[in-house]
This record gives sequence, C-alpha cells and structure tokens, in this order.
Amino acid sequence: MYRSHTCGELRLSDANKQVTLAGWVQTVRKFGAITFVDLRDRYGITQLLFGEELNTALESQPLGREFVLQATGLVTERTSKNANLPTGDIELTVQSFQILNRSVLPPFTIQDDTDGGDDLRMKYRFLDLRRNAVKKNLELRYAVNRAARNYLHENNFMDIETPFLIKSTPEGARDFVVPSRMNPGQFYALPQSPQTFKQLLMVSGYDRYYQIVKCFRDEDLRADRQPEFTQIDCEMAFVEQEDILNMFEGLVKRIFKDVRNIDYTEKVARMSWEEAMWTFGNDKPDIRFGMQLANLKFPAHSFASRAAQLKETAIGAGETGFAVFDNAETVLAIAVPGCSEYTRKQTDELTEWVKRPQIGMQGLVYIKCNADGTYKSSVDKFFNEEKLKQIADKTGAKPGDLVLILAGKEERTRKATSELRLEMGKRLGLRREDEFKLLWVLDFPLFEYAEEDNRWVARHHPFTSPKPDQIDVMIGNNPEIGNADKYLEHPYSNIKANAYDMVLNGNEIGGGSIRIYQRELQEKMFAALGMTPEEALHKFGFLLGAFEYGAPPHGGIAFGFDRLCAILGGSESIRDFIAFPKNNSGRDMMLDAPSTIDDKQFDELQIRLNLK
Ligand code: ASP
Repeated sequence: MYRSHTCGELRLSDANKQVTLAGWVQTVRKFGAITFVDLRDRYGITQLLFGEELNTALESQPLGREFVLQATGLVTERTSKNANLPTGDIELTVQSFQILNRSVLPPFTIQDDTDGGDDLRMKYRFLDLRRNAVKKNLELRYAVNRAARNYLHENNFMDIETPFLIKSTPEGARDFVVPSRMNPGQFYALPQSPQTFKQLLMVSGYDRYYQIVKCFRDEDLRADRQPEFTQIDCEMAFVEQEDILNMFEGLVKRIFKDVRNIDYTEKVARMSWEEAMWTFGNDKPDIRFGMQLANLKFPAHSFASRAAQLKETAIGAGETGFAVFDNAETVLAIAVPGCSEYTRKQTDELTEWVKRPQIGMQGLVYIKCNADGTYKSSVDKFFNEEKLKQIADKTGAKPGDLVLILAGKEERTRKATSELRLEMGKRLGLRREDEFKLLWVLDFPLFEYAEEDNRWVARHHPFTSPKPDQIDVMIGNNPEIGNADKYLEHPYSNIKANAYDMVLNGNEIGGGSIRIYQRELQEKMFAALGMTPEEALHKFGFLLGAFEYGAPPHGGIAFGFDRLCAILGGSESIRDFIAFPKNNSGRDMMLDAPSTIDDKQFDELQIRLNLK
C-alpha cells in the first residue's frame, strides 16, 4: 500500500493515528536539527516533520523539489497552526520515509504564484498541471461536464459518438484535412462540428442526442481561440424554437447551480438581433449594464426596417455645419454615468483610446452634462446649448453624465461605439465578474451578403431553417442578386432565421437553430449559397437523401464548453481550462506539434510537398 490517506485529508480528529502519505515535495525547510517538508498531492498539502533521529537519513538522501516521497508517521497537533491550510492544525511526525522517485530541478516553482512565464509553462504543461490554480480550473471543467451530463441524461438525451474522420461540414471555417493512405489522393476532413450527424440521428429516431465533443476548425487564431475545442452538442426532434429555448436555459441554470451554487431563477432575457445591434452595437450584448447606444444620424442602411421608425434624429441630416457629423454615414453616442467632471487629460486619453488601430476612429466628441443643468462640449462652436441638450437627451443622459459621440462609416462606428461602451463599463466597474446575465438573441438574418464574392452566405450554417412564415419567400424567389448594390432590396435580405444564440455577460456561449428537414427547401438553400445541384449532391447527397426517408422536424444547439468554463471560472482565457492547449499560433509547445513527418510516411501517402 503506497498511502493510507491523501495530503488533503488529515485533521485534528486524526491525531495520534499512524498514517502513510505519498506525494510531491513542494518545499523543504531546515531548522537546525529538524526539517519541515510540505508534501503535496491532488488533494492538498500536509506538513511533514522530520525530527532529529531522521536527520542523518535525510543527509544521506537529501530531498529536492518535486521528489516523489512516501512517509509514514504519527498525526500530531501543531504548535503553530496554519489557518490558511485545511490540514494546518496538524503535521505528520515522520517515523520512516522512502524516496519513490527523484526529480530534476523543475523549470519553475510549482506554486500558486509561480515564477514561470507562459511559454515555459506551456512547454512543461505536465508540471503546470500540478499547480493548484490550474488544477482548480480542471476541476471546474469536470463539474460543468458532470452537471451537463446529469441534466441531459435526466431529460432523456442519449450520448452518441460520431466520427472524426469525415467529409467537410460547413461551419464557416476551413477544414483540417487528413490524407487517406488506403485511398491515395483522397482526404478526410475533421468535423467542424457533428452537425450533419446529429441531424441524421434525428432521422434515425434518436430524438434527443448530445455529445461533449471535440470540434476542429482551421481558423486564424486571433484572440482566445483554439484549433480544437469542445462543444456540448445537442439535437432534438419534434421541437419548435420555444422548446429548445426552455430546455437549454434549463441546462445552463443547472450548470450554474451545480458548479457555482447560483440560483438563476429569472427567465432568461430575450432580444432580437436587430434590437441588439441597434441598442448595444453588437450581437452578443453584455446586459449587466445599460449605457445603450443612441443613433444620432441616419442612414443606418443595414437596419432599414428599424431606421424607418426613427425618422427623427437628434442632429438632423447634413445640416449641422459640423463637417464631421455632416459627412459621416452614422453618428452614435452613449451616456457614461457620473463622468461629467472628467478632466481634459481624461477626455484626451479617451480620444487616444478610440484612435487606436483596433478601434480605428478619427476622434471623439464629448458633451459634459453638468450637475447644474448646463452643457459643455468639445464642439461648442457648432452647437448651441439647446442643441447639446437635444443630443444629450437622445442618449438618456442625466445631469452628471458624460456623453461620448463617434461618427464615421456605419459598421466601423457601430463596432467602435460598442467597444467604447464595454470599455467604459469595465472602467466603471459595471461588468462584475460575480454577476451572471444570460440573454437569448433571436431572429438573426438568415443570409448575409458577401460583397467581395457577390453572393449570399448563411449567417449560421446552411441547415438553418427560415422562420416558418418566410419559407415561401425563400422558395418563391430566385436568389439571383442582379445589381449587387441593391442587395438590401432583395427579398432574401429580410428573411429571418429560426436561430438563437445564448449570450452570457457579453460572450456567445451557445448557438443553434431549427433545421431545414425538407429536401426541396434544403436544395433551395444550397442554390442560394451558390452551389450547383451537382455540387450540392456531391457534398451533401447523404443528407438530401436522408430527408426523403421520413425526416422529423428538428432543431438543436451547441455550447462552447471551454468558454463556458472560463466564464464560470472568472477567467478571460479558455486555455486555462484545457488540460493540453495549443498556443496562439496553434502549436502544442510540449509536443512540438505540428511537425514534419518521415519520408516513409509521405511515400505511403503518395504525397509530395510543394512548399511555397
Ligand atoms: N453546429 C452548430 C455550431 O457548431 C451548432 C448548432 O447549430 O447546433 O455552431
């Protein structure tokens, strides 16, 4: 027997018991004739006391950091207790010990505040995983996994595995491909998601499916992405959107409860995509705080229907005498609460902030809504007090607030204002890590128009159904765009998808849709995306065929498992929640992968490199 207890287990009530522990040496502290060792395992740390009698033994076999040590002794009450450690009331007075294995000096300290940099810790990930901070994250990940499985199991979902060596699934990214030795010149694709398989399972009658599954997307790894990541992937038959929303807000609430003991009893808020874009400037709004966007000027042409309702703008169109506003496509503003007393230095700093290349604006206009009801702005020359008030009112500003205004090209300005809102929310402490706000974003456009290719693309994926009452619009119209400038006038630009995203604190944590399940509509969709009937058959013949054998109405969703864990763990980085992640260039630093392969492997695959 290597151990009788773990290093996190012993308490004062165990005093005088003889026990055996095994673990890793975290620290060795010698005080004259006695030595203290902190012994660590997955469960905690226990202090070992080596008395005088063992010191000669220790001298002939000195202990070093990360040695694997087994020690037998008596549990004893400590004279100086450590309230920070669950085992801090006791220590193990060692009677005998054995070094089970030695360790070379680790490249960084295996402690909460380690001295190791990112790259070094990635290279020695197996050592980093010994650290408490990383271990806690993996424990949380496992707790999320268990909560999800329990909930889904209780609701009759079946975990069914689907293959990894498949044919392309279009989720909008590039595929990773795998050459087939047995079929020279042919390739498998790794799944970007199990999308088509889960739909086929619905046709097969497994009406509630789930899988916590790896997905592979060969994307440029900006921000916090991984080329392989995990989804909680689900699909249900005989459901409408409402059924899905209810089932899966239940799932997330259960995860909150089991993992963080949060009772999220309120109904999850819902917002249309248009509303989200108009009032928050993006499709995954952080609704923990207000500071909504005010549209000060038309046209906001991509939101034609809403624009029509908002004829009255605060600054009017093209007549203010202030060229920046007059020449801009869009003018957007937010009212930042309680910041009217910002100094020149502070407003200058904000101006620099919006001019950074990532934000890309030319400048920033502000209006200070003073507590005494007067207004002061950076454009006093162009706007009298009455006009300033009119603009400020449009943003909902109160005395004491600071109105920030951006002007420029519509898309960029919207994005920039949205970023500015998030930044101000962060600076004012309105984005609290311990607050969780869920939101369903609904009614996405089914299609987006790709100007560079002059064609429609699916906003979600090609299997997403239009809203039931718009199926006829889709079937009844030819997707040809004709004059590309006029794509907004094409009936397809108004078709809404039967799709939904779940947003948590400004992050998209899940998304899905009610699917197309009729061959005719699916063919129309492929045609709309520019596929010839032959191409559609070649790529998706199996699915089109399956739809002819009694496909039930169905829909589903997939949650980004890594991201969900990171948010619940209060971290920005999904990497921290993955046991063996890749770095930002998609490399596994530990394995040093990707790497080249042997000539023999190339020969077997009948592949010759043609590096450019
Ligand atoms: N397969 C989709 C995705 O990965 C999710 C879904 O539609 O269920 O985004």
